[in-house]
Amino acid sequence: MKHAFTLADRVANLGIETAFVVAGQAAAHAAEGNRVYPFHLGDLNLATPENIKEAACRALRDGKTGYTANVGIVELREALADEFNRTRNTSYSHQNVAIQPGGKPVISKFLLSLMNPGDEVLYPNPGFPIYESQIQFHDGVAVPYTTIPGEGYFTFDIDGLERAISERTRILIVNDLHNPTGAECSPEDRQRIAELAVKHNLMVLLDEAYFDIHYNGQSTSIVTEPGMQERCVILYTFSKRFAMTGWRLGAALGPEEVITVIGKHNVNDESCSNHFVQWAALEALTGDQQQVKDILNILEKRRDLCVGLLNDIDGVSCYSPDATFYLWPEVTQAMENKGFTDYQSFITAVLQNTGVSMCARSHFGTPLPGEAHKYLRLAYSGIDIETIEEGLSKFKNYLES
Ligand code: PLP
Repeated sequence: MKHAFTLADRVANLGIETAFVVAGQAAAHAAEGNRVYPFHLGDLNLATPENIKEAACRALRDGKTGYTANVGIVELREALADEFNRTRNTSYSHQNVAIQPGGKPVISKFLLSLMNPGDEVLYPNPGFPIYESQIQFHDGVAVPYTTIPGEGYFTFDIDGLERAISERTRILIVNDLHNPTGAECSPEDRQRIAELAVKHNLMVLLDEAYFDIHYNGQSTSIVTEPGMQERCVILYTFSKRFAMTGWRLGAALGPEEVITVIGKHNVNDESCSNHFVQWAALEALTGDQQQVKDILNILEKRRDLCVGLLNDIDGVSCYSPDATFYLWPEVTQAMENKGFTDYQSFITAVLQNTGVSMCARSHFGTPLPGEAHKYLRLAYSGIDIETIEEGLSKFKNYLES
């Protein structure tokens, strides 16, 4: 059928989060009556803690159903500022906090507030695909830096990052505790990143979606480095830590001047985030933390099981990252053994033959020239222990047959 309209030119530059496409393929496979082993999406199959759900119900009953201030209720902004001052050594007040309908909206609102067309933006690649999409959609120039294998887990290629800085670089996006690789900065890395940001006068989007998904000890934020509080905007989310992905609540924290502009975006985009959900989020931050700890313990057990099973497959090798709920196994040899050269046909064949659904490197930003190794991304947040065992044993049988 011929349409009477033409889409705006800029739509050509709008990317997607391709994990949702893989989810669609998995759902179609399941609809045909097949068993699916869901390792594709960074969602959780664990319930939001009871005290948080109860706080939401109470807020609804108490009539917290109208608009709030566009930057959120002051009680929640204060609680988040306190949380950051305690865990990241910042000196924020509620004026440094703008509540958002999820962590994701912080990416576009940050870029729209600080990036001019033609500005270069350094972003991690492989990385969360929305960075590349939003930079290009808003006419910035997306300049990748990458992750490298370190001792025990991936780290960031800070030398490469430094080389990629030019006179036109204005913004640096950092996702320490990284989706998809689980990469983590060393203390020296954090210091170097901060020094580079200060030296080149870069504004930093610090995506800390996984700051609290850390199994062995407390995370340290780059915002604690000298000169960083005044140039970082932090993406915070309630999604992962509290198993609240579908509630859609997050926040931007940063210099008051930027937060005020981000608040203006809130007025233009959604007026405010869900009122009663903000009261539930206050309970999440200030209430009982036992069930939050339980979530972390369950995730850690799943990680250990997945890493053991993956490393037991011929041609697969996998680090055990200390943070996030993602694994980034190298499968160069396994793909070669099965005669695959491209990711799409490989993961389609895996789904068709085993029901195991997963993402590949190609879903996390445009692959870089000269990449010699092949990687997959498995999320273990949405799949329980028995299903992991069954799925990865089918994956092993398929790869070794
Ligand atoms: N940043 C990263 C690195 C993520 O992996 C995600 C979600 O998967 C987000 C941000 C956004 O999460 P949400 O919008 O659910 O807060």
